[in-house]
Amino acid sequence: MIRALLTIDDVSSKNTPDIVDYLNEKKIPVIMFMVGQWAENYPEQLIYALQHGVIVGNHSYTHPEFSKLSFEECRNEIEKNEDVLNRFYDRAGVERVYRPFRFPYGDKGGGNKEKIQEYLREKKFDKVDDTGIPYPWWKEKGLDKDIDTLWTFDFAEYNIRPDSGFTLADVMKRIHEPNPGDGAPLLIDGSSHILLLHAHDETEEMQPGYYKIFIEELLKNGVEFTAPAFIRQ
Ligand SMILES: [Zn+2]
Repeated sequence: MIRALLTIDDVSSKNTPDIVDYLNEKKIPVIMFMVGQWAENYPEQLIYALQHGVIVGNHSYTHPEFSKLSFEECRNEIEKNEDVLNRFYDRAGVERVYRPFRFPYGDKGGGNKEKIQEYLREKKFDKVDDTGIPYPWWKEKGLDKDIDTLWTFDFAEYNIRPDSGFTLADVMKRIHEPNPGDGAPLLIDGSSHILLLHAHDETEEMQPGYYKIFIEELLKNGVEFTAPAFIRQ
């Protein structure tokens, strides 16, 4: 069996409601991670996601590289985005039960890493349940101890851009790659993944329905999408 929790970053976008509708139709649960500054451009789309059952987590207010910021700046990025996200939950009329966090680019803050983890713990962010992740490197790198939500497989579909030379075929190759350079192979029996996809309108423009193409491929290969679960502190 191959199990996978789907996560979608950088909401909201124009395309977010279509993604939500598709996932609901397929009964595929998801955690979406919001960048406040971008969600303020697409407020109705963010509210749509919340009102259609999506758990939305904090992905910072402006999507900076945390290792280039001071600890204070990191904290401000997270706190400001918490305020924005709380207000969206209020406007949507949805109770905010879970508060996961993901760093932009998976950048855990360089020299401030421990301090930020301590902060996330103190502020009672919810750790996504990663106890089923079977890869030794997950524990060797101490990722099982961290509060933030990293991933084990990145579709890298955001690289599909004009003139990038990276195409849909490259993503399909990654999906079937038995020895990826980073993360873990996706389609190996016994796998348990946290999958990373993005809600970029630019990708939708380049490759309409891109997320459907990848998800259909996973379903065809026996991937079972799991509901988000959390380890409460
Ligand atoms: Zn992001």
